[in-house]
Amino acid sequence: MDRRAFIKSSLVGAGALALPKLTISSRAAAPKKAAVLKLGSQESKLPGASLKEKVANLEKWGGCGLELHGNPATRIAEIKDAIKGTTVRVSALCWGSCKGDLVSPDLEKRKQGIQQIKDALDTAGELESTGVIFVPCFHKQSDLKPAELDQILFDILPGIGDHAVKRGTRVLLEPLTKLETFYINRIEQAAAICAKVNHPGICLMGDFYHMSREETDQTQAFVTGGPWLHHVHLATGKTRILPGLEPHSYVEGFKGLKKVGYQDYCSIECAIKKGTDPAVAIPQAFDFLRQQWKEATI
Ligand code: MG
Repeated sequence: MDRRAFIKSSLVGAGALALPKLTISSRAAAPKKAAVLKLGSQESKLPGASLKEKVANLEKWGGCGLELHGNPATRIAEIKDAIKGTTVRVSALCWGSCKGDLVSPDLEKRKQGIQQIKDALDTAGELESTGVIFVPCFHKQSDLKPAELDQILFDILPGIGDHAVKRGTRVLLEPLTKLETFYINRIEQAAAICAKVNHPGICLMGDFYHMSREETDQTQAFVTGGPWLHHVHLATGKTRILPGLEPHSYVEGFKGLKKVGYQDYCSIECAIKKGTDPAVAIPQAFDFLRQQWKEATI
């Protein structure tokens, strides 16, 4: 998607937010576009001696989204060079929590955390990435209560969102299982924050691993988050391994993506078992996911 179309799509999402209440589950309007399955992977999971080789493998297997770790500011030229002339694009930057600094009661730490996510957004913009994945805090990174954390997010996210939009990208709130954080475990919780902040630069993502532990209805979870949903992580069920290696179905979740007309990337974020050849296992996982996508009829 080019920059103008990107901003336009974000603003369409924001327009949908102008509802008087957080009736987020009622927004499952028919999608304007048919959903697409754009598969991808985190860089670290891809086999290859160089980034260029990894990208070539991903493209060969029909993948098109390259997810990078942290803020790869010093690698911008290398990344642009690796994807040049291919159908692969940068999906998201998997950035994280910055040790909880953005929601720290220590205002100096908070300021530094905000600067760091803005720096990551600069890189994301330069790479035309869909967004920067943000987790406010993992366990033991904050002693505050969820309501206090909500208030800090409401204070800081509008300014960060302005920066994101200026750079043509977004923040993506990632809900995590209760094994990893006490704060924002389900998509509807992230959606409620996005709705309240009501900013095109503040969006969310879904991760099948966390969802398999926390969501009772995967279709509905994606429908609820639909207006703000711009990235998906793929991992099989409760052990977080490559899709297709154990009997975990993606069909219900994919139905949700189809219902909201999902247009962004689905990226592998999982362990690759010792002894497994990723050059065999990843294309098999992609085949499995394409089959599951076909089975997800709505
Ligand atoms: Mg994830």
